[in-house]
Amino acid sequence: LFEDPSPLLTGLNPEQAAAVTLPPEHALILAGAGSGKTRVLTTRIAWLLQSGQVSPGGVMAVTFTNKAAKEMMTRLSAMLPVNVRGMWIGTFHGLCNRFLRAHYQVAGLPQTFQILDTQDQLSAIKRLCKQHNVDDERFPPKQLQWFISGCKEDGHRPRDVVVRDDETRRKVEIYQLYEEQCQREGVVDFGELMLRSYEVLRDNDPIRVHYQRRFRHILIDEFQDTNRLQYAWIKMFSSPPIEGLPPSGNAVFAVGDDDQSIYAFRGARVGNMADFVREFQVRHQIKLEQNYRSCSNILNSANELISHNSRRLGKNLRTDAGEGELVRVYEAASDFAEAQWMVDEMKQLERDGLPRSEIAVLYRSNAQSRVIETALFNAGMPYRVYGGLRFFERAEIKHALAYLRLLENPHDDTSFLRVVNFPPRGIGARSIEQLQDVARVSGCSLHDAVSGVTGRAGVAIGNFVALLDVMRERTEAMTLREIIELVLDKSGLIEHFRAEREGEDRVENLEELVNAAESFVMQEGFGRDAVALPVDEQGAPLTQSPVSQGLDPDAPVLNESLAPDAETGETLSPLVAFLTHAALESGDNQAQAGQDAVQLMTVHAAKGLEFDAVFITGLEEGLFPHENSMSDRDGMEEERRLMYVAITRARKRLYITHAQTRMLHGQTRYNLRSRFFDELPEACLKWLTPKAGAPMTSSWSGQRAGSHGGGAQPAWSPGWLSGAQAPAPAPEPDRGTDIRSGMKVFHTKFGEGKVLAVEGAGADARAQVNFPRHGVKWLALSVAKLTPVTD
Ligand code: ATP
Ligand code: MG
Repeated sequence: LFEDPSPLLTGLNPEQAAAVTLPPEHALILAGAGSGKTRVLTTRIAWLLQSGQVSPGGVMAVTFTNKAAKEMMTRLSAMLPVNVRGMWIGTFHGLCNRFLRAHYQVAGLPQTFQILDTQDQLSAIKRLCKQHNVDDERFPPKQLQWFISGCKEDGHRPRDVVVRDDETRRKVEIYQLYEEQCQREGVVDFGELMLRSYEVLRDNDPIRVHYQRRFRHILIDEFQDTNRLQYAWIKMFSSPPIEGLPPSGNAVFAVGDDDQSIYAFRGARVGNMADFVREFQVRHQIKLEQNYRSCSNILNSANELISHNSRRLGKNLRTDAGEGELVRVYEAASDFAEAQWMVDEMKQLERDGLPRSEIAVLYRSNAQSRVIETALFNAGMPYRVYGGLRFFERAEIKHALAYLRLLENPHDDTSFLRVVNFPPRGIGARSIEQLQDVARVSGCSLHDAVSGVTGRAGVAIGNFVALLDVMRERTEAMTLREIIELVLDKSGLIEHFRAEREGEDRVENLEELVNAAESFVMQEGFGRDAVALPVDEQGAPLTQSPVSQGLDPDAPVLNESLAPDAETGETLSPLVAFLTHAALESGDNQAQAGQDAVQLMTVHAAKGLEFDAVFITGLEEGLFPHENSMSDRDGMEEERRLMYVAITRARKRLYITHAQTRMLHGQTRYNLRSRFFDELPEACLKWLTPKAGAPMTSSWSGQRAGSHGGGAQPAWSPGWLSGAQAPAPAPEPDRGTDIRSGMKVFHTKFGEGKVLAVEGAGADARAQVNFPRHGVKWLALSVAKLTPVTD
């Protein structure tokens, strides 16, 4: 075998080379993280092509992400002068789409069939339920969506579902109606892509035989995360040997790692590996035990952690890379401090010559990215949120912002269109067209065109406008936080996402928006909340806002547009200021394509990737391990595998951080250090903060003594940071004025008005005043000089 080594094989270890050059028969490569599984899979394709055993058209490779597919194509074309386009390389969904496009007629689909994403699917189900008078209390649409997707993942059409009770009978009826509707409209959801192509293969001998002959080699990466239907789909391309018949002649090459199975919550079945070995009578099983990615301190940490799981197939990993650096552990006082510290550390890494793209920040929940994004943004450090959208670009956040915009400006037609029927309230495309026509003809905004729309549509849109008006009225004189909470609730957004399949992430993001507003308010010295300054035992403020006093050179520069009008003192409302901030933060700082940027992603999205330096953040009980998984052993073991995936992403340097307090769901939570710290080998760790960790103090002064070293005049950290640590409630601020809400006041330009709210302290104090002739205005008290009026 090695007499005439192909250059493709040089540099591979004997086990890897053996795997690459296996005969064309079924094989399973079971190996730990960083052992070269993906590299072996790619090299095998190249080797098969180069040795003339297969032409590009005879190869199908399933990768976990589109990015992995692209990378594989790039590598292959670098290794060989072949036309990679002829190969089928992609994700399961991508390949099924390709398959159905080729066989749309047999599949009974229009040539131009459209794909429904999860969101579209839910809207479709809701529409259907309305039409058929389905009681949505008994059968919430999101539950139905869950049911339908689950059936499809199990390969079940309505007629295949075992009906044991009336409830299931009704659900199956709806499933049937949903299918008919999709068929009528020529759309397929994600589950349907898989199931439909599976059925075409199963029920059409000529097509199946064609593909079985065509794809001589089928290679699958991350096999541990395949679900039942995906496994059945693979079987269609390569019928397992049937006794008495010659083998089909193609080879399935599966690579995986049971310790990295992290999608059980979506129906992934580790058991597929054992089934594969049995059903395909796999004769070649190769273990790779040499890790090429990480230094041994990192690898040993991963090994030790995962040894706490009981259900494992068992394998070892070793490395020749040397001990390398210790794993750095950092405890921060708050999530803000954690983010700030990371940014400082990244700057140091940059100075040491590390490209930003070699720095990754991993987190358990999507919502965690927001605080980190803000810190990066303020530091001017380009970053990219990978496998997901940046916080302010996420659909649910944009929906919420659209409602907030409409409170400020009912004529914002873009926002109006975005949410007029979101959450769905039965306003169809036809009604919206009608509304747009009226607006066009009379040259007014959609909001003002409502009265011109007649019939049921008019009533529905009228209700929406009324909802906005009520919200606007009720949010007058509210703090920014209260406004957002009210909007999230009254708009129905939270409720809408709450029970949705995989909607929990979106709910967390929406709740995170409250935190975003909270820190914005503190950062900009806006709002009542901003006076929550550190207090002494007697509750007296220790100091004025550091931002307003200019004590902190690192404090973020105020947006210029927020400065009050020099003459009238008029200033933006906290809401408008916040919306401006959101728009800016979502646009400009996005790293340009090709620009070197720090990589932010969830641990799930990091699977298969590697970086020189990795930060794993938020290692706290309830967050990582996640609270939803802590109640049962399976859930706990999946969390541990997730942590194993996270640790093994790092090549040279690994940081694991946690924070004593964190804003979660709009509240400050005091968190315990994650149990995972106790499962890591002490000898591999370097505690940058004392290991004992500051006790979870409940008073701010205690924390201050701990984190700032005490003293009468604490050294100030950036304003937004100190604000975040401050507890509520706060004492009445010294505003230097006697303006109070409820008062009548006089303004030289706007005349008499009534004070609705007063917020902020010292130079930041602002009042919201309703002037009968000029409307509601926000005024900076240091400029506006309002005089109280007595009746
Ligand atoms: P994961 O389980 O995280 O998906 P993996 O098993 O797929 O990891 P790869 O990503 O293929 O591992 O390889 C990990 C790293 O080790 C890559 O940078 C790869 O180029 C390198 N590598 C793999 N085999 C060798 C080798 N024989 N010599 C040098 N480097 C290697
Ligand atoms: Mg891999």
